[in-house]
Amino acid sequence: MRRISRPLDAATHAEFAFLHLPSRSELANFVGFESDSLSTEKEVVPTEEVVPTEEVVPAEEVVPAEEVVSAEKEVTFHDFAFRESILASIEEAGFVKPTPIQAKSIGPALEGKDVIGLAQTGTGKTAAFALPIIQRLAGRPDLGALVLAPTRELAAQITVMFNQLGEDSGVRVATIVGGVPMEQDYAALSAWPNVLVATPGRLNDHIGSDNVFLSEVEILAIDEADRMHDMGFIPQIRDIISVLPRNRQTLMFTATMPDDVEQIARKSMKDPVRIQIGVTAPAHRAKQELLEVAEDDKPRLLLKLLGESKGRVLVFLRTKRGVDRLARRVDRRRHKVGRIHGDLEQNERDRAIADFRDGRCRILIATDIAARGLDISNIEHVINYDFPHNAEDYVHRIGRTARVEASGLATSFVTRSDRRAVSEVRRLIGDKLPRTVCPEGHTPLAEQSEPERKSGGRGRPGGGRGRSGGGSGSGRSGGRRRRR
Ligand code: AMP
Repeated sequence: MRRISRPLDAATHAEFAFLHLPSRSELANFVGFESDSLSTEKEVVPTEEVVPTEEVVPAEEVVPAEEVVSAEKEVTFHDFAFRESILASIEEAGFVKPTPIQAKSIGPALEGKDVIGLAQTGTGKTAAFALPIIQRLAGRPDLGALVLAPTRELAAQITVMFNQLGEDSGVRVATIVGGVPMEQDYAALSAWPNVLVATPGRLNDHIGSDNVFLSEVEILAIDEADRMHDMGFIPQIRDIISVLPRNRQTLMFTATMPDDVEQIARKSMKDPVRIQIGVTAPAHRAKQELLEVAEDDKPRLLLKLLGESKGRVLVFLRTKRGVDRLARRVDRRRHKVGRIHGDLEQNERDRAIADFRDGRCRILIATDIAARGLDISNIEHVINYDFPHNAEDYVHRIGRTARVEASGLATSFVTRSDRRAVSEVRRLIGDKLPRTVCPEGHTPLAEQSEPERKSGGRGRPGGGRGRSGGGSGSGRSGGRRRRR
């Protein structure tokens, strides 16, 4: 067999240079287990049996890691009869044993079954679909696998993983994503890839102009299907699926199952095996705090927190316009601030990430979607300026801090309208979520009169009844706020 070894070319390297693949210890921090024992009994999420579709628990009801006890035989990569070159690459990558999602999904995927993997970023899901694809397609001349990813950043990470694990086994991966010159895509496509990693919009452009032929695709992998849904890509995915051979294998990975995604699974997958990996509790080293605040009072509280901190701060908002407005406001206070959301040009997003990573900007203000796939370590403080609607996004967001150091802090602003969302998070991660406290100098929501509530309820320093509450506290010196 001809062995093809095609290192990333210089342009691709430059393009992906901003990406940081988390180390094993970072992964362990995020998924909540120790780096030297990626699947020990107590700490790991995983061991639900693979069950047929209809018996599956909805993704929203994922079990917190610590409630699941494993009694199964430990799976190793050698159990999968991978070819030697793949085992060597796995070893070189430093993967000692499969993560839970890998342990559960690689077997069925290698057998050619359709698989739905309910798992988050940081669980090792990329290798969970990349390894079976590499095993099946190694050395194949034509385009045999298509991987769809919602963002350019994620597509780049997937490409790196395919190269890392598959290059020595004859995998030739091309990546086509929006926001880069078309010429780059033509060059990538004309290099005879056997695996194509693409974002849906750009791929559809190429399908429409007959630049890419997908008639030989045997395996389709859809990564972060729920994000595709959030970003409005579902119609594009349907169009892409309509030009693929019907008798292909489909592997789909998603953290949750919105209706649209469920429908795609029902219509275009054959008797899929569902594998659910519970969302673990957030990185337990991160201190969490919930601050009660009126909507209009958020900027004042944020500026106060930014003034108190010195390290890197990642601030999450729900809307793109909100990100723009807040970034202007923070900039006016002479903070070095970057912003990232889906309406920005790709080069602006890249620059914001690079500035944040390299310390030119201490503060990054982002929407969830744009921050997805963004992997930056040493973020000391994550602030949920807008509380996430989706409980799993909470876990995902705060997993960005305390990845390396033990001192991360995750602060969430909570308004009256967030109460339900807070309960959802509490249901998901249990007691680890502290009670809400009212920052000193802010009026507790319960005590605000109607007009104050609308205008943010300033004044009343030290307001509130000072009922003491539980929780992990802020980790700051005392007296700044009273608990409720
Ligand atoms: P992902 O969830 O695919 O984004 O993977 C998160 C990180 O986990 C990546 O940096 C991978 O290199 C790493 N990883 C994947 N599989 C393993 C494994 N079996 N052991 C250790 N690290 C892994």
